[in-house]
Amino acid sequence: MTDHTHADTLRTPIVAVLGHVDHGKTSLLDTIRGSAVSEGEAGAITQHIGATDIPLDTISGMAGELIDPSDFDLPGLLFIDTPGHHSFSTLRARGGALADIAVLVVDVNDGFQPQTEEAIDILRRTGTPFVVAANKVDTTPGWNPQDGEPIQKSMDAQSERAKSMLDENLYEIIGQLSDAGFSADLYWRVQDFQKNIGVVPLSALTAEGVPDLLTVLMGLSQRFMKEEMAIDVTGPGEGTVLEVKDERGFGATVDTVVYDGVIRNGDTVVVGGQNEPIVTEIRALLRPRPLAEIRTEKQFEKVGEIGAAAGVKIAAPDLDDAMAGAPVRVVRDRTVDQVVEEVKAELAEIEVETSENGVVVKADTLGSLEAMANALREAEVPILRAEVGDIAPRDIAVAETANQDEHKAILGFNVDLLKNAESDLENADVKLFKNEVIYQLVEDYERYVEEKQRAQQETVLDKVVRPARFRILPDHTFRQNDPAVVGVEVISGTLQNNRNVGYFEGNEFERVGDLSGIQKQGDDVDEARAGERVSIAIDGPTVGRDIEEGDTLWTEVPEKHAKILEQELKEEITADEREALQGYLETRRKRDPFWGK
Ligand code: GDP
Repeated sequence: MTDHTHADTLRTPIVAVLGHVDHGKTSLLDTIRGSAVSEGEAGAITQHIGATDIPLDTISGMAGELIDPSDFDLPGLLFIDTPGHHSFSTLRARGGALADIAVLVVDVNDGFQPQTEEAIDILRRTGTPFVVAANKVDTTPGWNPQDGEPIQKSMDAQSERAKSMLDENLYEIIGQLSDAGFSADLYWRVQDFQKNIGVVPLSALTAEGVPDLLTVLMGLSQRFMKEEMAIDVTGPGEGTVLEVKDERGFGATVDTVVYDGVIRNGDTVVVGGQNEPIVTEIRALLRPRPLAEIRTEKQFEKVGEIGAAAGVKIAAPDLDDAMAGAPVRVVRDRTVDQVVEEVKAELAEIEVETSENGVVVKADTLGSLEAMANALREAEVPILRAEVGDIAPRDIAVAETANQDEHKAILGFNVDLLKNAESDLENADVKLFKNEVIYQLVEDYERYVEEKQRAQQETVLDKVVRPARFRILPDHTFRQNDPAVVGVEVISGTLQNNRNVGYFEGNEFERVGDLSGIQKQGDDVDEARAGERVSIAIDGPTVGRDIEEGDTLWTEVPEKHAKILEQELKEEITADEREALQGYLETRRKRDPFWGK
């Protein structure tokens, strides 16, 4: 560090790791922490609440010849421990992303996957600089692992065949980045990191390439974020809630990432809550106890104050309603009202639009709730209520009040169904959808709605009276009356049993009786299709008096059914049924133009 007074006011850049499931985010974080610890020096890393601080000295120890520590005056890197883009989008700070820089992990063999695309979208939207960790290079066939080495050294130790296979995969990823609108290249070829995304081939398993990743992150931060890292270390602390957790002896606590100023024990703070901002006084600031002291009963140690950037657990009264993703602000030398307004304004930016009708949405954080709301808006799914938190009995009660069946649903992103809500859900007519991927959650719901609509149409179709036009065949009277039994040919439509039948006299429908049986080649059937010849029994008429051989008869379609058929099921019925319906309606409407409308 060259300029000490200045360095004191530069905070650690906050780094988030994101990418598709199983591409190695957790492994990479573990490896970074593990390699830092095995660097051996005391204080190689500092465990924070929800984050790990890797000081510059440790990084330069790991990076060896890749780094000259005198080039840097930023103190190191603070990695957020919970990987994944939901936690990333949670991490807001004054409307932007809390993470100053991100690592997008991509499996070299798998390339871009749905969550990679989703992560890229978030990075683009928040304008967060990032590097791509092309992970799992060690899975390249014939790979000769070089544990912990810089990637180029490792590449030099590979066969031509292994190298060219890896290259092929890397260029695939560079191509996919380009398709996503980012010009990218292997990091050592990148001249201007503001224009191009650097791709770092590495393995979280063997740690080769990990020194390169840390070097690139450090360099990027130093070059492009130094100004943003300059903070007033004595200013009122500002942070973001990472998680709300019940802690024995403390009640509800908030795990917070502090990105500006300093938070002191006893400070009055304003925290974003479910309903109103919470104004409370800090009872304890807690940090994880160092590993060496793990024998003690207590998991945490109390600290008097904590400056940015850091992760800390805040214990204070009334934090039960605090929300992950919400702002935390120390009041210090301002008025409480002023700070409450600030917090309200920041929360208003994330407000989700709800309507009188729609589904219930629950998400783990404010950021993911916002992302859910955006996805649902695009899918034109209205939202009745949107909240941060696990699924509680109250949510089921609210979902049940939805007017439309398809809206009696809860979409839970990254949340659990609370134990005390399980039986409520079983007894309620409410469908629960849970997923860790937003677009899949929305898709699952859309598919459900489609299926529901199709099933509904099918039941309607089952119940609706189908139109039919049929003719009594000459010389096919088998019985005169009680019931009349005659042979008929269905001209168009579907002739169903138990329907009223009749004929048009002028434009007037004359009902002649009730169809009480259909036989096809001696067997009883429920219906006969156009073109078929069957014998039918009709209760009511007498052949030769009420009906005659050669007459054209119709199934009587009640007005309500005719309307449903014409307006809703026209596409579902067959062409000849449509034809029968058309003929029936035309005749009816000659007398009453508004019949069935
Ligand atoms: P996450 O879901 O992105 O956090 O992925 P994980 O870190 O849990 O990794 C998923 C799987 O990939 C695990 O079985 C890891 O052991 C494995 N894995 C992660 N990184 C590497 C790597 O660099 N090389 C190999 N061979 N396996 C890896």
